[in-house]
Amino acid sequence: MMICTCNECRFMFKGSNSIKRCPDCGAENIRPATDMEYEEYISYQKEFYPQGQTA
Ligand SMILES: [Zn+2]
Repeated sequence: MMICTCNECRFMFKGSNSIKRCPDCGAENIRPATDMEYEEYISYQKEFYPQGQTA
């Protein structure tokens, strides 16, 4: 799984090569998340979806 971060609004999302824009604000200024951001994203998912469900 690849996590991307928007440089404009810091929104993190599951990315892929077909995603060129931030799904939150629509900016094209996105980049792969850093390791730290990735950890943050995973812990956030666990907090909101403790049963392993995904949004
Ligand atoms: Zn954004």
